[in-house]
Amino acid sequence: MKGLNNFIGGEFLGPSNNGYINKVDPSTGEVCERVPDSDALDIVKAIGAASKAFPGWSKRPARDRSVYLNKIADALEARLEEFAEAESRDTGKPLWLARKMDIPRAILNFRFFAERINHKEEMATDMDGEALNYVLRQPMGVAGLISPWNLPLYLLSWKIAPAIAVGNTVVCKPSEITPTTASLLGEVMQSVDLPAGVVNIVHGRGETAGAALVAHPGVPLISFTGGTATGEKIQTMAAPFFKKVSLELGGKNATVILKDVDLDKVVPEIVRSSFLNQGEICLCGSKILVQEDIYEAFLDKFTAAVKELKVGDRHLESTYLGPLVSKEHFEKVQAAVAQAQKEGAKLTTGQEALDIPANLKGGYYMRPVVLKDLSNCSDLHQTEIFGPVVTVQSFKYPLDAVKWANNSPYGLSATVWTKDLSKAHKLAREIQAGTVWVNTWLKRDLRLPFGGAKASGLGREGGDHSLDFFTETKTVCVQL
Ligand code: NDP
Repeated sequence: MKGLNNFIGGEFLGPSNNGYINKVDPSTGEVCERVPDSDALDIVKAIGAASKAFPGWSKRPARDRSVYLNKIADALEARLEEFAEAESRDTGKPLWLARKMDIPRAILNFRFFAERINHKEEMATDMDGEALNYVLRQPMGVAGLISPWNLPLYLLSWKIAPAIAVGNTVVCKPSEITPTTASLLGEVMQSVDLPAGVVNIVHGRGETAGAALVAHPGVPLISFTGGTATGEKIQTMAAPFFKKVSLELGGKNATVILKDVDLDKVVPEIVRSSFLNQGEICLCGSKILVQEDIYEAFLDKFTAAVKELKVGDRHLESTYLGPLVSKEHFEKVQAAVAQAQKEGAKLTTGQEALDIPANLKGGYYMRPVVLKDLSNCSDLHQTEIFGPVVTVQSFKYPLDAVKWANNSPYGLSATVWTKDLSKAHKLAREIQAGTVWVNTWLKRDLRLPFGGAKASGLGREGGDHSLDFFTETKTVCVQL
């Protein structure tokens, strides 16, 4: 097996320690790739390359950097099919989804910031003729970018694009569970002649390569997307250095359904917000709250629709759920379902036999699970499961829904379904979350802030919020 390499200073290099991790294909359970098990030495090399590239890159005019971002987007677009296949193989998600969502959204990230950087204006103030102030926005140096396994290229590009658009250079540590599209992105950087060292990619484990990146004094910025427990560790490691840290963390997102909805229209949307990407999207609504008047009718229609979802071969257009990303994650999700059952919850669907072809029998497949009758006090209403598992609870008044939606340490997102927009606005105001969708889900305007409340994160990225995060502003005051 050939294996992947790190991308450092514009070249593909093996890990210094010559150590590799076996990457398993979640569709079959078989080893399919070798990933560098990089350590602090590789991280130091990458930071060295990024530091060397910084003066030249940061001094280029913004329009030059914008041209590079557009070239990266063009090169990605030209290889869309290859990237989609790699993303689908690494994560297990259906190929159609990677083709339709992951890779096009990654392309858009580069295009969006390519444009944005050309239109960024800064503030100047006149102190009644006595002095003039203006604001400089300056890149900070080497940014450390750490990303998870569920939307690998999309989330990594969401960080790389704004970071390099404003003139930083970057060292990326993608999840070693899903490393391939990051590696292909290194090839794209080479193909567009991006100056060496502007983007560096180091594969490896979080506890070694990731931690070394966070703890290095030469990296003033850390943008992290991943679990809340890891976010806490990162914040603690970064604190003594007063690093700027952006944390996009876990979620336990409520889906609130009021009694006035048209169930035939809404149910397919709830199926999607519950189970897209095997429920492995931080924004999936795993806690469904239904007004009691329509609770039984909703449960019947929803269960029937979920039973129709096809689980299996990621290559088939008809497959809605591929395997979960890893054995470890599969076992964690199964354990959560078992715990719910132990607490008295019932499955309305999820126990039916799977029809998986013989060549995929070793993969981590499970049917989507709908749980009812879980006590409102159960910890499972507060814990992120991050798989194809939802709970359904009823509520009497909209304010009860707010109470249950907020009954969690997380505050990433929520979704409200109703024809009564006045009620929807009130609920959106009361629910503690970084994003509230009304009668839609996963719609994303890149100009707007994105991030989590409470344990779902710290800071906001998106549009000018990303540009703010990846720069230091300086006020200059000139006596006239
Ligand atoms: P993890 O927190 O386990 O890992 C995220 C990244 O951090 C990986 O690259 C990981 O490497 C690395 N890492 C782990 N430990 C450390 C450490 N001590 N120092 C530095 N880096 C480290 O998350 P998952 O990959 O399991 O992703 C799933 C989580 O991500 C879910 O909680 C989900 O909600 C959240 N998420 C949040 C999003 C948001 O926008 N808020 C979007 C998408 C996902 P390694 O893989 O080697 O452990």
